Amino acid sequence: MNSSQALIISSDSFGVGVHCSIRGGLHNAFHEAESLGIDTFQVFTKNQRQWKEKIIDTEEKSRFLDSYKTSRVKMIFSHASYLINLASNDDALWERSASALIHETQRCHDLGLEFTVVHPGAAKELGEQEGIKMVVKALKIVLHKTKKFPVKILLENTAGQGSSIGYRFEHLKQIMDGVDSSRIGMCFDTCHAFAAGYDIRTKGGFEATMEELDNIVGLKNLHVIHMNDSKGESGSHLDRHEHIGKGKLGLEPFRQIMNRFAHIPKVIETPKKENMDAVNLEVIRGLIH
Ligand SMILES: [Zn+2]
Ligand SMILES: [Zn+2]
Repeated sequence: MNSSQALIISSDSFGVGVHCSIRGGLHNAFHEAESLGIDTFQVFTKNQRQWKEKIIDTEEKSRFLDSYKTSRVKMIFSHASYLINLASNDDALWERSASALIHETQRCHDLGLEFTVVHPGAAKELGEQEGIKMVVKALKIVLHKTKKFPVKILLENTAGQGSSIGYRFEHLKQIMDGVDSSRIGMCFDTCHAFAAGYDIRTKGGFEATMEELDNIVGLKNLHVIHMNDSKGESGSHLDRHEHIGKGKLGLEPFRQIMNRFAHIPKVIETPKKENMDAVNLEVIRGLIH
């Protein structure tokens, strides 16, 4: 790593968290966080598979903010809807996507969240370069319309499934340069990176990938790491998350992250079934030297 940033363990360090459910109300995420003993989590601020927007009412807002104040949670991320496609050449879908991200940003602001994570989008027949231009155009509008609530938008690297862009660090860099705003940052997903062809299974492979990330995007722009093992092989472009240590990634990349990126919040996004969140947390916590 040519930048010293990667190795500095800031006094503000974060453990590993999970994606928490908001079933029964947004504040319920804090109950789940407490039972798992985590200081970081991610939520959907509304039903992520529907376009219908949700306005946070005063009561829900104050319940959430009260829970935040009294909990030991230090950092919460929102993950924007999976329906959003900022790279679309379908005008209606593109506009709807920008509008949805504006609403997401508003909700984050209402809930006191600093960041929302979004996938750049799928370019379809438009092609990657034109798709990237559409993303830049959309983000500029979103940032302009949300000047009053300066939530940061984190672009997540993708597995490169279908025509999705963002599977190369260069795509994210191009978007960031095009938008040119301190409100745009990055989320690194281990499963997506591996499926996209960044072989992070070994210490050497992990270091080389982080060096590349630093050279292209800059580690100072990395605000969260998604900790997911991968069902697919390196370069498979398969976006299928597996429980930690049960997939093709193994434990080494998670060991590297836990010991070298203590200053970056981390979130596990593996299928929520039975007590698997607790199991995954225990596996990852056991990797800290
Ligand atoms: Zn994601
Ligand atoms: Zn992710």
